[in-house]
Amino acid sequence: MGKKILVIEDEQNIVDILVFNLTREGYDTLEALDGEAGLCLALEQDPDLILLDLMLPKLDGFQVCRRLRERGNTTPVIMLTARDAETDKVSGLDLGADDYITKPFSIRELLARIKSSIRRTDMLTQPQAPSAQRLELGRIQVDTSSMMVYKDGKSLELTQREYELVKLLASHPGQVFSREVLMEQVWNYEGYMGDVRAVDVAIRRLREKLEDDPAGPKFIVTRRGRGYAFHG
Ligand code: CA
Repeated sequence: MGKKILVIEDEQNIVDILVFNLTREGYDTLEALDGEAGLCLALEQDPDLILLDLMLPKLDGFQVCRRLRERGNTTPVIMLTARDAETDKVSGLDLGADDYITKPFSIRELLARIKSSIRRTDMLTQPQAPSAQRLELGRIQVDTSSMMVYKDGKSLELTQREYELVKLLASHPGQVFSREVLMEQVWNYEGYMGDVRAVDVAIRRLREKLEDDPAGPKFIVTRRGRGYAFHG
């Protein structure tokens, strides 16, 4: 059965475009043209993801998102905002939306975000195989059940993405991962062709937490022109 996506948006032409493209990608869709109806559908139908417009009649996107989270609902929400300024405001408020996209957006970009959100949720809810709960790599340990990374027995304060980077690299010691592959595997952008500098930025931050000397990394090494590899 296809994943179910709830579209809460008051502009009918945008709803039509979204539903057409989502259906073509194999998703089931639900529609609501105002915040109140959207909130009801979200609670009754338990969709896998919600596309939520910010400016809506009855209840706006802020209120819908807040009420969902107040009820303990954890369905991923991608907020649709009309301007960058709105996006700044929304992300600053931290209402529990998982992602934001600014109108006008490309359908391709939106579909990539949707896929990424759904895959992330699936991964969090899938039980881990018990045999793969702890990776021992010399001074570094990765505990996949608690999602913690330890260095010399001390836990490191990593973001979810940093954890996923370490986990992937450390699961295949010595193997070189290109930026594009890391972008796909860790950021979940399938067939990613765009800017991969985000990987370099993330690796730099990670090294500051992981390495004895971030300028001369020993655990996560750069393979010039090819990518990154982990050495335990
Ligand atoms: Ca609107």
